[in-house]
Amino acid sequence: MELRLLGTNGWYDTKTGNTTCILVESKEYYLVLDAGNGIYKLDRYIKKPKPVYLFLSHFHLDHCAGLHILNKFHFPEGLTIVGQEGTTAILDTLVRQPFTIPFYDYSYPVAITELAEGVHDIPFRVEARKLVHSSDCFGYRIEIDGKIIAFCTDTGICNNAMLLARDADVLITECSLKPGQTNPLWPHLNPDDAVSIARHSDAKKLVLIHFDANTYRTLDERFLILDEVEDRFQNLIIGVDDKKIVI
Ligand SMILES: [Zn+2]
Ligand SMILES: [Zn+2]
Repeated sequence: MELRLLGTNGWYDTKTGNTTCILVESKEYYLVLDAGNGIYKLDRYIKKPKPVYLFLSHFHLDHCAGLHILNKFHFPEGLTIVGQEGTTAILDTLVRQPFTIPFYDYSYPVAITELAEGVHDIPFRVEARKLVHSSDCFGYRIEIDGKIIAFCTDTGICNNAMLLARDADVLITECSLKPGQTNPLWPHLNPDDAVSIARHSDAKKLVLIHFDANTYRTLDERFLILDEVEDRFQNLIIGVDDKKIVI
């Protein structure tokens, strides 16, 4: 299965990349993880007429500002947006005039599926759990084509992140902070925290994304992480925009 990192910045776009968005191509579906500004690149990679599922972690703008770009695409099999309870009401406020074109004016059908915490078949299996963040934020564990993908962005260290990532083929998680940094008032992960979650949950591969744009000013700063943690986790990938990952 192929993953494509379309946006790996946290907070805002810079020369290092766009805000959070990841594309996963499965046999029957395209999965999009968050709708940061990197979402504008979807049509470089979505070439087949498969249904598209867009998972929203939460509504901070670095995860949903790209929603206003969706109307440039044509998804003949439709788009389903998956999010926490209340997603419909929030998107009714955000994706409308005077901000942008509403979904009902798109060239393809858009549906919204709200999930409670727990396990759902939508039709593939998805487990959703609340993470630790300043706004309600969901992490997801997606089981598809015999693979497990855990997506946990915008979180402090928490049991739910470890639960979602158990035995995952890939854990995609955030790295807002530099090594040694913590901020109890605004919980996020530093590289060691992310590795701890991956190790505790026996994730096979760890992909770091959501590098805070104000903290990681260059891509070189991201790659310094490898020196810090490579002895604690071998299968670590530093996320950069447009990178392809095969699981
Ligand atoms: Zn964020
Ligand atoms: Zn956030």
